[in-house]
Amino acid sequence: MVLKKYNMESTFNTEPHRRYNILTDEWVLVSPHRTKRPWQGKTDNSVTVKKAKYDESCYLCPTNKRASGDVNPDYTGTYSFNNDFAALLPDTEESTFNKGLLKATTESGLCKVICFSPDHSLTLPLMSASEISNVISLWRKEYAELGANPKINHVQIFENKGDIMGCSNPHPHGQIWSQSSIPEVVLKKQIQQKKYWNANNKSLLSDYIQQEIELDERIILKNDHFVALVPYWAVWPYETMIVPIKHHQHIGQLSSEEQQAFAEIIKDLTTKYDNLFETSFPYSSGIHQSPTDGEHPEWHFHMSFYPPLLRSAEVKKFMVGYEMFANPQRDITAEQAADNLKELSTIHYTKNNN
Ligand SMILES: [Zn+2]
Repeated sequence: MVLKKYNMESTFNTEPHRRYNILTDEWVLVSPHRTKRPWQGKTDNSVTVKKAKYDESCYLCPTNKRASGDVNPDYTGTYSFNNDFAALLPDTEESTFNKGLLKATTESGLCKVICFSPDHSLTLPLMSASEISNVISLWRKEYAELGANPKINHVQIFENKGDIMGCSNPHPHGQIWSQSSIPEVVLKKQIQQKKYWNANNKSLLSDYIQQEIELDERIILKNDHFVALVPYWAVWPYETMIVPIKHHQHIGQLSSEEQQAFAEIIKDLTTKYDNLFETSFPYSSGIHQSPTDGEHPEWHFHMSFYPPLLRSAEVKKFMVGYEMFANPQRDITAEQAADNLKELSTIHYTKNNN
C-alpha cells in the first residue's frame, strides 16, 4: 500500500498523535499505524429492501393517528408537530435546588418532530435538492419562531438516521429540541468562537475553511457557497461537516441561492455516504448555530454528521473503554476518510445499476 503524501509532517500519517479540536477545545487520539488493511471498498452484500411509500402503522405518515390521538393531516410537503413524547415541556415552573454539593435547576422548552416528506420510503439522499430545500425552509421557520419565544434561548435541529442510531421509525424525519439553557456542546463551541472573534475580528470557521480549501486534503465537496469536509479533528471514522463559505451566524441568513446550494451539498454528501458501503448509511446529524438569546457575531453555523460505521454496514465503531474514560480515539485518519468519500459518485447506488 502506497501512502499518499499529505502536507502534514510525514510522521503524522503513520505515528500515533493527538489532534486539537479548535471548536470544542478538546483532543482526539489518532492511531494511523493500526489501519493495516488497505481500502477495499464495500465488504458486505446487504440487500436493499424497497420500502413502501405509505405504512399504515407509521405515526408519521399522512392521515395516520399518533399516540396522542392527533391525526396527521394529508400533508404533501414537509410537516412539523409538537413531539408527543417531549423531553422538555413549555410550562415547567422555574425553580433551583442547592443543597451542599447537590445542585439542580428546572428546564423548560419545546420539542418538535419535522417530517421531511410524506413518502415513507425516502431518505435525504433519495429526495431531490428542491425537496431538501423545503426541509431547510421548515428548519428556518422553526428556528425563527421558536427562537422568538423569550423563554427559548437555543434551538437544536438534528436527525437520527437508522435504527443503529436509536431511530425506531424509518419515515424521513428529524427533530428540534429548543430550550431555555444553552446546551454543553454549543457552549463549548461558543466560547472558542468568541475568543477567536475577539482576538481576530473574524470567524474561526472562516479562517479554518480557508486553510482547508488551500490544503485541499480533507475537502469532499465544494460548491459556490458551501464546503463539505472531514474536519481535521474528526472523532467518528467518517465524520463530516458542512460549512457555509460566507460567515452566517444562523440558517435564517441564507439567501435563496445559498439555501439551494446547502440543499445540493446535503444531497451529494448523504448520497456519498450511502454509496460508501452500499447501504442506507446511519448517522446523527445536527446544525450548530447562534443561540437565540441575543447577538452572536462570533458564531459561524455548520452542520455536522456523526456516522458510527467503520469498515462495512456491519462493522460499527464503539465509544468504549479508553474513549469513555480518557478521550476519543480513531484509527483511520481524517485524510484517508476524506479520500475514500471524495472518490465516490454523487449518483445514488440504487439508481446507478441499470
Ligand atoms: Zn411513514
